[in-house]
Amino acid sequence: MNPLLEISFRVPFDKIRAEDVEPAVDELLVRAQKRLEETTASKDPLLALDTMTENLDYAMAVVRHLESVATTPELRAAYNAVQPKVSAFYSGLVLNEALWKAMKSYAATDEAKALTGTMKRYLTKTIDSFKRHGADLDLEGKARLKEIDVALAEVTTKFSENVLDSTNAWELVLTEEAKLAGLPPSAVAAAKAAAEAKGVEGWRFTLQGPSYLAVMTYLDDASIREQVWRAFNLRGGAEPFNNRPLIAKILELRREKARLLGFADFADLVLDDRMAHKGERAQTFLGDLREKTEKRFREENAELEAFAGRAVEPWDVGYYAEKQRLALYDFDEEELRPYFSLDRVAAGMFEIFGRVLGIVVKEEHGVPVWDAQVKTYAIEDSGSFYADWYPRENKRGGAWMDALLPKLGLICGNLTPPVDGKPALLTHREVETIFHEFGHLLHHLLSRVEVRSLAGTSVAWDFVELPSQIMENWCWERESLDLFARHYKTGELIPAELFEKMKRAKTFRAANGQMRQLGFGYVDLALHREWSAEKGDPAAWSRPILQQFAAAPLPENYAMITGFTHLFASPVAYGAGYYSYKWAEVLDADAFTRFKREGVFSAAAGQDYREKILSKGDSQDPAELYRSFMGRDPDPRALLERAGLA
Ligand SMILES: [Zn+2]
Repeated sequence: MNPLLEISFRVPFDKIRAEDVEPAVDELLVRAQKRLEETTASKDPLLALDTMTENLDYAMAVVRHLESVATTPELRAAYNAVQPKVSAFYSGLVLNEALWKAMKSYAATDEAKALTGTMKRYLTKTIDSFKRHGADLDLEGKARLKEIDVALAEVTTKFSENVLDSTNAWELVLTEEAKLAGLPPSAVAAAKAAAEAKGVEGWRFTLQGPSYLAVMTYLDDASIREQVWRAFNLRGGAEPFNNRPLIAKILELRREKARLLGFADFADLVLDDRMAHKGERAQTFLGDLREKTEKRFREENAELEAFAGRAVEPWDVGYYAEKQRLALYDFDEEELRPYFSLDRVAAGMFEIFGRVLGIVVKEEHGVPVWDAQVKTYAIEDSGSFYADWYPRENKRGGAWMDALLPKLGLICGNLTPPVDGKPALLTHREVETIFHEFGHLLHHLLSRVEVRSLAGTSVAWDFVELPSQIMENWCWERESLDLFARHYKTGELIPAELFEKMKRAKTFRAANGQMRQLGFGYVDLALHREWSAEKGDPAAWSRPILQQFAAAPLPENYAMITGFTHLFASPVAYGAGYYSYKWAEVLDADAFTRFKREGVFSAAAGQDYREKILSKGDSQDPAELYRSFMGRDPDPRALLERAGLA
């Protein structure tokens, strides 16, 4: 029996083979088609719609996940083979004439008019979504829209393959120990292990997160830093993995789609059902923060150049900033690593949110997984999850949460793996990443919304990072750190002096950090609102925009956006939505002021937060949810204060 055909809470990861994918998806498409006909004929098509594609959703989530964490050439081929038909099926739903008619007639019934609460919102959102997806277009318009969606799925898949492949295709093997000067022992050991794994002599560096960041932050030899920086910022920027024409294609398709649907541009289309509503409002929001950040940004850059004693290049910024941080604060982030062993961090995190949110997390054993490194857990009364934290060649980069079923999720990352028989010792940023993804996971698992389509993280994109980003605040409070940050050898807490330094260093170059994020948000909105084919190569066009937010002059061939998977790795992705990170930061900094006031372990504030935000999914307007928790609208002051910019 094909293991992808039936939903199984214990996903049989050990039994799923690449050759199962196509037959299962073909069969599930046939079944979904039948369910679609039943839905159309149903007296209550709204309720039927909510669960109509459950089996197909499940199979595709499992396959997509496996392709992300345990890919093989066969699996990738199978995934690519089914993806266009599945995408065509989904985008066909909102274009299905009979379904749209059934929905409209249902909306006109007394029963529909009497709906209240979540079901009422579901109906309104469904009708709006049909319209936004072209339900009112003529036949020709609908056909074109379908072509655009299929093309977008293909081009964006190719985009993300190019990033992965160009990342893996690059390596730097150093054979002279002297060239490693400046690197901390952990990075040297990791590079040694990476070389050994490949059967080569020396130290091997890659463009994967931990390796890249260690080189950029610590390696003394500027010419090596330059080489690595240039390779990193040219990922997907040159043949045979050239994403430049793909980005142009993606932007053109997205614009055509927006116009077809009656929107000025892609930003206005995707923001229609988000908190910001319009591209212009998002850009104004970024502009306001930029204005409040720029003065300090220029000061920081002048301070860095004064410190370095010369004009800095982009590959010098991280390096000198780290030296400057040491000089100013005598603080080396590496000093914190021994206090952050992955197992203790995870256990402490469960303990903290046990107190705050009342959850009980227990490790589960004997659950089938896709790799021996994966751990499995259950949250009492709220489902189960997988955690997969270390990088592998068959796994994509970054960190993320994904949902397989309403009560089943997973969190993945590419954290520093254990070396030399020591436990995995993390940077503080990596600890924040774990808390962040766990926040997304809780938003998914603690959801108590009865309508599947409005449950969990199915919220507006500029709201979805509130539950994740707020978690990072607990990585900065003495009380909560003391629950998990203990020296892996001695069991000691972080010394008071080190903690003070860490806090003070937090606002170090905060304006640069903020400008970097604002720059990504700006370039994203500019690409989706202003770029057009006659402006030429989008990567070259983006460079002067990003330059305004960069601490050093960017080289002519700078092509950061060709590796910008956030924007281009799927048909919509974070396209025109990158601003939402800052938007959500305003929300998270502001919302955390309640815990600052009522106590970081306050079960009362936690219960309120769980009830009014975490459990609610998209069952109410996010602005209303926020007001019900805070008693007022969000205030950007808390963000500026937290960053030391106000
Ligand atoms: Zn996130």
